[in-house]
Amino acid sequence: MSCRLCGYAIERFSHLSHCPHIRSVFDLFRRYAVKTVSGLKLDARLIYLGLHGETELPGALSALHIITWKFVLIAFTRADTEGEKFDSKRVWRQAVRRFEVRLMAYSEGVRRWVLRYSSREGGAPPPPQVVDRHCDALTPCATVSEEGNVAWSDGFSDLLTIVSARAVRWCRLRRLHFQ
Ligand SMILES: [Zn+2]
Repeated sequence: MSCRLCGYAIERFSHLSHCPHIRSVFDLFRRYAVKTVSGLKLDARLIYLGLHGETELPGALSALHIITWKFVLIAFTRADTEGEKFDSKRVWRQAVRRFEVRLMAYSEGVRRWVLRYSSREGGAPPPPQVVDRHCDALTPCATVSEEGNVAWSDGFSDLLTIVSARAVRWCRLRRLHFQ
């Protein structure tokens, strides 16, 4: 049976890292991640495992990699069962936007924890090791100040702007198309 996305090779798990459609999703991921992980290559290790050579990607990139796979599989299934076109850019947009929602929920959890801690400890800032742990989990998408405030990093803000702008444009195009 041939690949339902590219139609060329025999469909098997080992084809996925060669499939041009799947590669183009993970190339969008790589283009964002390489700003943090220099020299990151679009190879089978990155695509299947989220690895740069032998090294795992930093916390938030690893989480974004898993979410990207989730949306790849959803789109792959839809292409198979409903004949829906696999759109790499749309898959990437969906992954980033879902990831943003996850990060917002995480940030809200940090904010509440800091408030509780501060009111219990007479206004003291959170312990540095707690701040470091959250920083590790959010790097490179967000930073956590000593006071425990979470802020998007510039690179992630730029990514959100690009993804949102494209989504708006896509919706407009779709509306025009159906009018
Ligand atoms: Zn393919």
